[in-house]
Amino acid sequence: MDRLIIVSNRLPITIEKRKGKLHFRRSVGGLATGLSSFYQLYDSIWIGWCGIPADNIDRKEKNNIEKKLMTDFNNYPIFLSRRDIRMYYYGFSNKTIWPLFHYFTHHAVYNQDFWASYIHVNKSFCNAIIKIAKPDDVIWIHDYHLMLLPMFLREKLPDARIGFFLHIPFPSFEVFRLLPWRREILDGLLGADLIGFHTYDYVRHFLSSVRRLLGYEYTLNLVTSANRRVQVDAFPMGIDYERFANAIYNAPVKKEINRIRKKLGNRKLILSVDRLDYTKGIPQRIEAFDLFMEENPEYKEKVTLVMVAVPSRTGVEAYMLLKKEVDELVGRINGKHGTIGWLPVWYLYRSLSYNLLAALYCVADVALVTPVRDGMNLIAKEFIATKADGKGVLILSEMTGAAKELGEALIVNPNNKQEVSQALIEALKMSESEQISCNIIMQKRLKRYNVIQWARDFMDKLIHIKKFQQELSAKRLTQTMEDKLINDYHRSNKRLLLLDYDGTLIPFAEKPEKAKPGKDLLRLLEALTGESKNEVVIISGRDKETLETWFGSLNGGLIAEHGAWFKEKGKDWETIEPLQNDWKEEIWPILELYVDRTPGSFIEEKEFSLVWHYRKADPELAQVRARELKDALLDLTANLDLGVLEGSKVIEIKNAGINKGRVALHWISKGNWDFILAIGDDLTDEDVFEVLPERAYSIKVGFGISRAKFNLDSYLEIRKLIQEMGGAQ
Ligand code: UDP
Repeated sequence: MDRLIIVSNRLPITIEKRKGKLHFRRSVGGLATGLSSFYQLYDSIWIGWCGIPADNIDRKEKNNIEKKLMTDFNNYPIFLSRRDIRMYYYGFSNKTIWPLFHYFTHHAVYNQDFWASYIHVNKSFCNAIIKIAKPDDVIWIHDYHLMLLPMFLREKLPDARIGFFLHIPFPSFEVFRLLPWRREILDGLLGADLIGFHTYDYVRHFLSSVRRLLGYEYTLNLVTSANRRVQVDAFPMGIDYERFANAIYNAPVKKEINRIRKKLGNRKLILSVDRLDYTKGIPQRIEAFDLFMEENPEYKEKVTLVMVAVPSRTGVEAYMLLKKEVDELVGRINGKHGTIGWLPVWYLYRSLSYNLLAALYCVADVALVTPVRDGMNLIAKEFIATKADGKGVLILSEMTGAAKELGEALIVNPNNKQEVSQALIEALKMSESEQISCNIIMQKRLKRYNVIQWARDFMDKLIHIKKFQQELSAKRLTQTMEDKLINDYHRSNKRLLLLDYDGTLIPFAEKPEKAKPGKDLLRLLEALTGESKNEVVIISGRDKETLETWFGSLNGGLIAEHGAWFKEKGKDWETIEPLQNDWKEEIWPILELYVDRTPGSFIEEKEFSLVWHYRKADPELAQVRARELKDALLDLTANLDLGVLEGSKVIEIKNAGINKGRVALHWISKGNWDFILAIGDDLTDEDVFEVLPERAYSIKVGFGISRAKFNLDSYLEIRKLIQEMGGAQ
């Protein structure tokens, strides 16, 4: 196993400065405790903020911190200024991304300075990592604070193995699109090789945003971005199962259990534990408990709700308001239902020790876990794991990631007070055998996919996708091969160059006016066609009038409409065989129907073909419609001797047997070429690659399965290659 670099906002070690002295202690919280067991299994380094503002320490203290963290804990600290903490951490991370990604759109603040600070801190992380990363390291970045980091790292370390895991939900496109920097965030994440989420819903939301906002397609969760492939998948985070399953055998935990039992008497314990956060649905939960008490007075003095609220982000206004609301609600409910000697709600506003938390899990009859939105929720899993005798009932919000795995729990909608109250009754009345049978199933699952297995699974996938990418890049035109190509070009006397246009010589343009060749490109093509040993043919799906206007003055050949028309040097346009177009009348109304049913799509009419373009339509709808249209055309086109060709966001109907390859073959067989090079980027160019003789060079622009011998990243690399061929004349 190679070295692992874990990167997260916070280190698992927190440093505090009290009375001029530095104190080091282990951080609590899901990620820190969960990952630290995995982290210890490998030769790893953890990079993150150490929790102390940089303004509070001098250079010497910084050096001491660095040294101690590295030698004692293998931790590498990032130092953030007070301003960074305010703008990047409390600001962009917790006032913009956190509320937005949890669907609290009204809490989200969009502030340019927050954003600038987020970029700045992500860059600082990047600079720290490149100082210590070695080429074979695996870099695993965690969570929403660092979503730009994969891209920054990729720019500096193009071949690095980079994984990213998001611990919070990824919202649906309709919510994500509200973010002013939505494209930048997606680009940032796509710098990784593998992006992990807790649930498949978050994967779907992410992929749909990528497609809609960046226009990148995906198959089987594999996104093809401009020049890379990125795997996206669901990895539901597990817990340190044994730590909780064995809690009951632990003496300090036992002591706490006895203490709680004594205080509780015969009453049943309903347990609620969360950070005090608006996503956790705490007020709704108290109100549901209120309703339960109101409608079921027989439970008076028979139950106690122990409500632990761990202080969180206490300086943020929304959290202060929430604290006030919860304090008041608890006071009101206790005042309303309490009796002398019985408080319905025991409210603890503080962080608990592991021993006390585990003891509460052990004693609780019911865990009431009802966040209004939660990426995963580890409390639910820890509660189930702790139940050594299998007794206890979990009531779980369907809005948590955990609900996807813990289907045997009582699943509720946290906004439906009636339903939560009903679930409480069901839980309190559930037979022990039913409790045990449900919990055993969940325990088996949690034991199997524990935090170690989760992390291993992620790492295995990351290494696998990297290998896959390397296999793809094996086809990349390396410098040595490029030198050979240029050398062969230089030594030859009769050369055929078959060049696709859109996506090959220019970027794939959404608008036709943007596709017009610029001066640079024309100069490049003039030089290439001006060389007497060259026969240059531009092959395009565009109509012949457009090609004539753009390239008519060049001393080369043209192929239009994907091979329906061609024009040799100094001759007129001709067709490869007599073609018909009377079929258009029959096909046109069908395409029109699809235009009406797919807003944004349109029909292009060429002399011998009809094209349905859908690149401007909603991508998901368009995909469905494209499939339907192909089916609808199947019978009709067979009878009319037509072919249906699928290109990049187009479906083209034309005479059967007409394709770029057929005309390319015409050119190939015309001469006695001693050098042939064909370049293209989409499906229609595969027909050209197929008819090339073995000794020809062929290059596909972009990645993907292709018959071409080599790949290059983009049109820019193609232009560079052409330029270098020109230089070698
Ligand atoms: N936790 C803790 N001390 C407490 C309360 C909770 O260490 O007083 C831990 C708990 O064991 C769990 C984590 O905090 O592992 C909470 O994770 P969860 O996913 O439920 O919520 P988050 O706080 O990450 O939103």
